[in-house]
Amino acid sequence: MSTKVTLLGTGVGIPQPGRSQAAILVETERPLLLDCGAGTLLRLDEAGIDVENLDTVLLTHLHLDHVSDLLALANARYLRRLPGLEVYGPVGTATWLETLHSAFPYLEKMQVTVHEVRPMDDFSVQGFDIFAEEAKLSVTALAYRIEAEENVLVYSGDTEPSPRVAALAEGADLLIHECSFPEPFDVTNHTTPKKLGRLLKNVNRVVLTHFYPQALGCEEDMALEVSELSGAPVLAGWDMMTMIL
Ligand SMILES: [Zn+2]
Repeated sequence: MSTKVTLLGTGVGIPQPGRSQAAILVETERPLLLDCGAGTLLRLDEAGIDVENLDTVLLTHLHLDHVSDLLALANARYLRRLPGLEVYGPVGTATWLETLHSAFPYLEKMQVTVHEVRPMDDFSVQGFDIFAEEAKLSVTALAYRIEAEENVLVYSGDTEPSPRVAALAEGADLLIHECSFPEPFDVTNHTTPKKLGRLLKNVNRVVLTHFYPQALGCEEDMALEVSELSGAPVLAGWDMMTMIL
């Protein structure tokens, strides 16, 4: 069976035309959502996904551009009288949600269940076998390797170029990796094309995401730079781009 991947949001915290905040939809029999930044609910609707069928979310980390629509999704399911939401996220996700409970007491009714994930954890969700790896960010952050049938997808979340994430992506059918800024930006916590391209080995296909406004107009050049250094085919991601694995 094939796996369909849809980039729901390829943007960041700063608004820009055509780019919603971070979210990726992965579908085999049941859909799985990776991150849930602002704008995700609208993008899910555009992708033809009813919230009735989406009950599981994997979070890479707890920055707002990756979690802003999570409570909106929980609320949408609650208002539709659907069972609660299963949320997988890094250590700290449970405390974060408990803190939100004090601001929104009715969150209790939405029945959000948290499963905290540590680097090197192996678990199964919605028919996917998932392995978590540590990403390199100022806060606790995970990258995920997601296997369904014979297909392997790796998602970096937000990270500096990381040998661990590159190793996680070896042999993957598709790597969705953040590439926030074009060259010659010198940044921490995020990725630029050359460092990423030099790290990647043996990846079948790469799609770049998480573009800051500074990347506007440079996206295709960024993809070319990663491709030339890694030897892999690389595309710049756009919202609602779909790929079949
Ligand atoms: Zn981000």
